Order: sequence, then C-alpha cells, then structure tokens
Amino acid sequence: MRAAGRVVHQTLAACRRHVCPGVTTAQLDQIALETFTALGAVGLFKNYPTYEPGKGFSGNTCISVNDEVVHGIPGSRLLRAGDAVSIDCGIRLDGWCGDSALTMIVGEGTPDIVRLVRIAEETLELAIRLIRPGIRWSDVARKMQEYVESRGLSCVREFVGHGIGRRMHEEPKVPNFVSSEFLNRDDFYLEPGMTLAVEPMVILGGPEVVVLDDGWTVVTRDHTAAAHVEHTLAVTSDGCEVLTDGR
Ligand code: MG
Ligand code: MG
Repeated sequence: MRAAGRVVHQTLAACRRHVCPGVTTAQLDQIALETFTALGAVGLFKNYPTYEPGKGFSGNTCISVNDEVVHGIPGSRLLRAGDAVSIDCGIRLDGWCGDSALTMIVGEGTPDIVRLVRIAEETLELAIRLIRPGIRWSDVARKMQEYVESRGLSCVREFVGHGIGRRMHEEPKVPNFVSSEFLNRDDFYLEPGMTLAVEPMVILGGPEVVVLDDGWTVVTRDHTAAAHVEHTLAVTSDGCEVLTDGR
C-alpha cells in the first residue's frame, strides 16, 4: 500500500503542476490517467461502482470546483483564477489501493477561500497527529468536528472516509464528525495495521449538500465553497504512517 500511495501522490502532484487559469478539468483528468497508467496502476473511479465498460462514473478522477464538494465529473469546465479545485484520485497497484485528494486555489484566492482550504488541511493534519492504537475513532472525529465548527465552518455529514486495502471502500466507516448512530453502532478502536482513508470535507457556509441531476456531483445547498482533502494512512504501533503524502 506504500507503493500504491506513492502512485496516488505522484498523480496528484502532476495534476497540481498543471492547475492554472484556462485549463479544463478534463485536461487535468487526462494528466492523472496518463500519470498513474505510466506508473503501472489502474484507476478506481472510471465506471465506478460496477466497473462495467461505459457505465457508472465517467472520469478517472473526481474534480470538484468551488461549491462542488466531491464527485465532480471532469469535463469542459475552465478553471478560473480564484477557484478552489479539489482533485480526488484512487488507484490500484499490484492488488492494493490508494486514495487521496487535495484542494488547491487557482492563482490567488479570497481570504475566505484561503482560510477554508487551510482549515480543511489542518483538520486532516489534526487527525493524523491524533491517530494511534487504543483510542476510539470517535475521539478523533470529535476533535476534527470541533476544529471545523469552532472556526465557523461546517462538516459534511452525508459522506465519510473508509477503510481501504484490496478494495477502495472497505469497512469501517470513518466519519469526520460524531453522530449518535456512529457512537451507538459503528464506533471502533484503532489498531496497528488498520489502513484508513481519512477525508474531511469542509464547507464555508452551512453543512447541507445536494446531488446534481448528473447523479454524481455533490454541491453545497447554499452554494458557498467547499474543500476536500484526503490521505490513505496506516495505523502503526505508536501512531500512523501517511501513505499518500510522498514520503
Ligand atoms: Mg478519494
Ligand atoms: Mg476515499
């Protein structure tokens, strides 16, 4: 999974280098496809969830701009200066999966957008610092939620992180907030060897999201901007090792 994680990191790094005003999200998607294919990996988003040719998700990555939270479909949209663009990439290499997302600003963003992206990144960093064996996931998720909400931003509640391994989406559910449902039914203790995709989704305005008529793109109901960042990581004997950060 380290090797798979490195491919995801290199793919997102290649996309990052090409983000600029005037590039289309389809062009970034093509760069991602070429990068991970050259590294011997297979994409996990194209034709998701059944992987039948021509069915399911049409992109090789998810690219979500501004009020799009996750699952944006790459296409003819031109990026403009000030946009917040999230790129999410999942691949399989030699039977093992990696999944990571970044959000970056095209050129210079408004102070609100800069702060949104910074807080989303800090929320993921907070989780990475907290993760160690013997604590419950809800202890981490509560701190992530508090970090976001105490700064006047919102956590998306409809989508959560996940276990990852041979398949991209495995048990357990890894939310970035706590709910009575999670505490009563799905909470778990962190153990060495667990591999998780942790992916905070943060909104500048309210937490409500809707899915567009394309069946995929998740947007904020109030059309304020959102940021999504994700790493695949492994719980170790005394903390965690991030597998998709290029180290
Ligand atoms: Mg992802
Ligand atoms: Mg994921």
